Amino acid sequence: MESLELTEVELKGRDELLFRLPLDVKPLQYDLRYVPKIQEKMFYNELTIKIFISSKKDIDEVNLHMKDLQVNSLQIIKIVDGSEKIYETSLTKNENYIQDTFSIKFLDQEIKFEARSEYFLRFQYQGKIKTHEMTGINFFSLNLTIGVFMLCDPKLLDNKEKQMFDYGDELLLQNNEVLEQIQICTHFEDKFARQMLPCFDEPLFKSVFNVIVEIEYENHDVISNSLVKEITKTENKKVYTFDSTPLMSTYLLCIVIGKFDKNTLHSKSGVQVSTYLPTGEGVKSLDALQLAADSIDFLEDYFQVKYPLTKLDLIGYYNHIVRAMENWGCVTFIKKLLIKEEGDEFDEYDYKRNCKTIAHEISHMWFGNLVTMEWWDDIWLNEGFARYMEHVILDKIRPELKIWLMYIEIVYSVALRKDKSIALTHPVQVKVKGDQSLDDIFDTISYAKGSAIVLMMQAVIQNEQVFQDCLRAYMNRFMWKNATSQDLFQVMEEVSAIPIMDIFTHWIQTPCFPILVIDRISEDTYTFWQKCYDSMNSVEQWTIPVKFVTSKGQTGFVMLDQKMSQVKIEGLQADEYTKFNHNALGFFICYYVNQSEVDGLYYSDFMGDIDRMVFNLELMVSGKQVTPRDEEKENDEVDDALENKVE
Ligand SMILES: [Zn+2]
Repeated sequence: MESLELTEVELKGRDELLFRLPLDVKPLQYDLRYVPKIQEKMFYNELTIKIFISSKKDIDEVNLHMKDLQVNSLQIIKIVDGSEKIYETSLTKNENYIQDTFSIKFLDQEIKFEARSEYFLRFQYQGKIKTHEMTGINFFSLNLTIGVFMLCDPKLLDNKEKQMFDYGDELLLQNNEVLEQIQICTHFEDKFARQMLPCFDEPLFKSVFNVIVEIEYENHDVISNSLVKEITKTENKKVYTFDSTPLMSTYLLCIVIGKFDKNTLHSKSGVQVSTYLPTGEGVKSLDALQLAADSIDFLEDYFQVKYPLTKLDLIGYYNHIVRAMENWGCVTFIKKLLIKEEGDEFDEYDYKRNCKTIAHEISHMWFGNLVTMEWWDDIWLNEGFARYMEHVILDKIRPELKIWLMYIEIVYSVALRKDKSIALTHPVQVKVKGDQSLDDIFDTISYAKGSAIVLMMQAVIQNEQVFQDCLRAYMNRFMWKNATSQDLFQVMEEVSAIPIMDIFTHWIQTPCFPILVIDRISEDTYTFWQKCYDSMNSVEQWTIPVKFVTSKGQTGFVMLDQKMSQVKIEGLQADEYTKFNHNALGFFICYYVNQSEVDGLYYSDFMGDIDRMVFNLELMVSGKQVTPRDEEKENDEVDDALENKVE
């Protein structure tokens, strides 16, 4: 049976296979009852999906996603005159799709799903809880910490036991101490919700989720996207019922079970913010908790849109394949990111990175969760914006971190390095078929170059308030919905009256970046020649926003939309110099032709920290050398002489 399926797929050829679900069926609501059995490493679930047939014609089948689930029963239900009419069904793999797609039909083939009607799909099914590979991030752990998986505190286990746990050893799972400390986790981005429930597993299909979780252990707690509505206890189980979620995409659903220390405070607007760390470690999360609350306050003001839920939980997993995941209202982190160490254990670099990650995830509550990209092609709308916002947030609420310097260090320069070879990079807006691995789309280009593009939009718009108005308008127009890059550009163009669409469509669809060759041809005039960094002969032409600052502190701005341009800076004297790409607002490299300009810039002290860092980066990339000054030459000569003596 397997080999037959494979042959059929091969015969069709990959490019002919469909990768997006049809739009004629809309999921409205999922009612999920999740019943994990830890010792069995299984879950036994019940699920009802309310769907609406939005097509104008009756249809034969409903297609949805599922993976590694065993369906024990499935019914199609229609409400007729107030009572349920139940139909028998057939469920088959749909080989016209790239992966994981199943068709639901009426067993009686005469019956069809009627146009403009509602149905319920009622499933009983089971699936496996994966156990975690504890030995580090490797190929196996990639598979094992997505979907539904369990983690155990490595401290509790000796090496042999760790191995046993990795393989889900039953004996170990009967050890009460181990059982108590186990975390049953989920991670669904980008296409892994289908490993927990049959669903329409694409960001476009936003629905409401009503979650009920039945657990076996008294000491365990359950956290999900919404607040707990009710907990009922019987002799051997606890049942958690959660409030309905807002409309959201499947990849944002999250359910976590475990034993936690909880700390809570409220944001100014009353959002309940909590951290959940393994028992004994909660007290170290107070700094993260305050940062999260402050970030919410900042973003509510920045977007003028309230945080869309009533609570936000930050949960520490023992370990994970990603640093953090922005499940709505229920953000999961590798636990050490939420812990602020003291004394010798404190590492400033790690601490700043952790603050960035927390601010990043919280900005996703708006960018990504409230307004979601329509398809993974536009993942930069989530990740580029969140990366940008994490710096905006921390710059305002934790200015002492000097976070924009870190941006240059680990975002901007890393993006340039990654993007410099056309053969190894890809455009920011990338074609995704849904069968890529996590690493393929959640990479430096989406995050880092994506954030550089956002900064460049800010540079083009120039006025910070207008830029903020653009984002507010975008948020207001697309909240609870999905958007594309073009939707964003359209809104920005309307609000700013600047041709954003024209300028930035090219930036997000073209790999690599321009190098700007700058030649000072007279006291006050420069010529610019742009070329693709990786290809002299490339015909690519970008519209490049160039901010500059002179050694007298005069700033200015030009847009270069030709291969060759000439710019005159009024009043510039021969002994003054100009740093182009001031504050690294553009994603390009400057190459100064004149040695005197290189030396002049290097030895002047008008550049701020960011300009200085970027200038050094440009020297390194362009291979330009600074001419040593006379006194340094003399020192060098002395050094040489000394060295000669030693020889
Ligand atoms: Zn992110």
